[in-house]
Amino acid sequence: MTEKQSKTPISRRKFLKTSTLVVTGAAIAYGAVSVPLLRSDRLRLRPPGALDENLFLASCIKCGQCLQVCPPQVIELDDISQGFGIGSPYIIPREGACILCNGLPCVLACPTGALNHDLSLGKDAEMGLAVITNPDTCLSVLGVNDLVYRLENLGKKKTSSPDQTELKEILTSLIKKLTQDEKKAWQTKFALADISDNTLLSILKQSEHADLKWIINFAGSSGQAQKACQVCLEECPIKDEKPIVFVSKTNPDTGKKYVWPSVMKTCVGCGVCEEKCPTPAASVKITPRLEWSEKQTGIQTRKENLT
Ligand code: SF4
Ligand code: SF4
Ligand code: SF4
Repeated sequence: MTEKQSKTPISRRKFLKTSTLVVTGAAIAYGAVSVPLLRSDRLRLRPPGALDENLFLASCIKCGQCLQVCPPQVIELDDISQGFGIGSPYIIPREGACILCNGLPCVLACPTGALNHDLSLGKDAEMGLAVITNPDTCLSVLGVNDLVYRLENLGKKKTSSPDQTELKEILTSLIKKLTQDEKKAWQTKFALADISDNTLLSILKQSEHADLKWIINFAGSSGQAQKACQVCLEECPIKDEKPIVFVSKTNPDTGKKYVWPSVMKTCVGCGVCEEKCPTPAASVKITPRLEWSEKQTGIQTRKENLT
């Protein structure tokens, strides 16, 4: 990267920061933040850097710039069918989470600073907080491996052949986690030339050999089956800060041991865990950060709301 290129985002940030102050100052001067505001009729997960909800809705001019620059296209705009706050951007994590992409282009694109230009790193985003909302279905609590679980579900589907896209995704992950001996057993079963990951995966192209039942049994007896789901942590984009820690606990009533995914303060609420959670309804969900609604909803601040 040239010196000129590396400086460009910084000078743009400075420019946008200045314009934020001007627009926010103008909004306050004209009483825009103290008049009743049009707001969404439900809690919304806003893009990174969103100001507190009242100020955000006052500052966002519903231009859709953030949406246009979002690489995974996960930002949606409220429409008239969803009540107030029409045109304001939000994210539905289960349908597509914010991946906290480098440089936070949505923040840079926001012309008013409704997405705060002081924010430059995803790890500081503070969009919300992950909460284990369905512990009864959480595979970690149940001690179930996610890949085995997904394979078994695929096997239960009443279709003539399994969904190849999903099967490929599962097998790609599974093969990476097999021991050498397990890879050799796979090689023998399908008479493959070697045990490289690509060769083992080539069974997908030989549909007559893609014996799902055998694969399900094989996965269920592999070492991997002993490892309960940690998908939320594995997929979390905040890599160094460990937003989820798996804690061993004991049920005081039954004495049964289980492992609880405990959400830490370093979680920023991007929603990747909610999107990737393999259970039919996500076992983990994002509580958006909305300081203005604390008193109305009983939702605590993110620092107190740890699970
Ligand atoms: S940081 Fe998130 S919302 Fe913003 S552009 Fe990237 S993926 Fe989209
Ligand atoms: S991804 Fe996390 S919350 Fe979802 S089932 Fe696995 S451990 Fe539980
Ligand atoms: S735990 Fe990780 S993936 Fe889930 S919302 Fe928090 S930061 Fe995002």
